[in-house]
Amino acid sequence: MDRRLVDIRHPDCKTKIYPKKLPKASVIIIFCNEAPSGLLRTVHSVVNRSPPEYLHEVVLVDDNSDRPELQEPLEKNISTSWPDGIVKLVRSPKRLGLIRAKILGAKESTGEVLVFLDAHCEANDYWLEPILARIQEKPNVVLCPAVDLIDDKNMEYSRNGGISVGGFTWSLHFTWRSVPEKEKKIRKSDADPVRSPTMAGGLLAVGRDFFFHIGAYDPGMFTWGGENLELSFRTWMCGGELEFLPCSRVGHIFRAAHPYKFDHSDSHGYNSKRLAEVWMDEYKRLFYNHRSDLRNSDAGNFTDRIELRKKLNCKSFKWYLDNVFPEQFIIDENSQAYGMVRLFSVRNPESNLCLDTLSRNHKVDPYIGVFPCSGGLSHNQMFALSQINELRMEEVCADVVGERGARVKLMDCHELRGNQLWNYNRDTKQLKHASGWCLDVGGMKMNDNIKLNDCSAAGSQKWEFEHVLKFI
Ligand code: UDP
Ligand code: MN
Repeated sequence: MDRRLVDIRHPDCKTKIYPKKLPKASVIIIFCNEAPSGLLRTVHSVVNRSPPEYLHEVVLVDDNSDRPELQEPLEKNISTSWPDGIVKLVRSPKRLGLIRAKILGAKESTGEVLVFLDAHCEANDYWLEPILARIQEKPNVVLCPAVDLIDDKNMEYSRNGGISVGGFTWSLHFTWRSVPEKEKKIRKSDADPVRSPTMAGGLLAVGRDFFFHIGAYDPGMFTWGGENLELSFRTWMCGGELEFLPCSRVGHIFRAAHPYKFDHSDSHGYNSKRLAEVWMDEYKRLFYNHRSDLRNSDAGNFTDRIELRKKLNCKSFKWYLDNVFPEQFIIDENSQAYGMVRLFSVRNPESNLCLDTLSRNHKVDPYIGVFPCSGGLSHNQMFALSQINELRMEEVCADVVGERGARVKLMDCHELRGNQLWNYNRDTKQLKHASGWCLDVGGMKMNDNIKLNDCSAAGSQKWEFEHVLKFI
């Protein structure tokens, strides 16, 4: 329960000196049918590794768990382990979902700073001081500790990659992105806070007053998902800032499945639609490009959230994209042409084959192919010819080594041209790779045989973009 952890902080973190007088924290841990050992280890790590003068309380919020060990035995365990009452337990009589559970925890807390953790975490040495010092310095900041990896099979604690910032896909999923150049220039050390357009979700800290000032969370959201992007956009647009703190380290168990049942079939979609409608202005069109199934779906009433946005006089989503996240690729603004890339045939001008990801996970099986055109309804066929001549899909680009017969795959865009450079010829309709070979589909049928071939007038090399903005 209270094992020692490796101190994996950056060396510069170890020499930082924090003020003696800091605000006190309420650490809020929400859970629904979590393993008791993981939950208790989270609490032990927080109590053991937070200086008592800075820990106001630990508030456990039980989101209506029905696991027997989490009933009376948990209460006994808490009162035996922490007889001083530092650990409080709040039980919800009905299932709230993680978003409303966090709101309940925040309301029940009385510390100046709120720190939210999942119920399968381990706070590492000196995790709290950087958080409290930063909030004291900047009361309008929302902070995320660096999330380390705890292996769900053997509980090994390790660093989870280097320093990154958060982004999002237009289907409104969180992604990791490299630290932008302008941010690298401002930072003197890898131990410095880094501003981020979005946050991953579970683990965050915020001043209690600021949290309620900007509208806590959207209480109309269900179970899981979307609230992290909603809070990210709202924070930036309504006068706050979002930062990652590399010196504050907390481990999180990454696991294959959730221990609780979902009480909604697509809470992520439902919640995302609410956030798109309230916060994304005209850019919600890009969300619906990816989730056309949600265009006319119900997302409950969100007039309160629109009122909140007005009352706080928040900036536009365009302001957010221009100022906070200029790196984000906006397919219908930042490309030469986009949409379905249809194989054009003279004999059959309505050839019904389009470039397609074939629903493959590009990390595992990255090769693209052709598939019957979906009529613009499938994000699997949403390609763009970017302004720097990539054949691009959000953050992945068509990439191929320059040799005859080489298959084309999707890889993270590197923006260095090279194997990701494609020239489109409007007359011949060829997509010519930097290497001089042309994009060719083996035969006129559905397949994954997209290859480089000698450029020719063959119908298997004629491509047309659905929408053209401006070819350069
Ligand atoms: N949780 C909850 N109620 C729910 C769903 C989740 O209280 O309806 C809790 C869950 O027990 C966990 C936290 O919310 O402590 C975050 O959920 P999870 O760890 O499953 O999300 P992930 O880390 O996979 O995004
Ligand atoms: Mn989690």
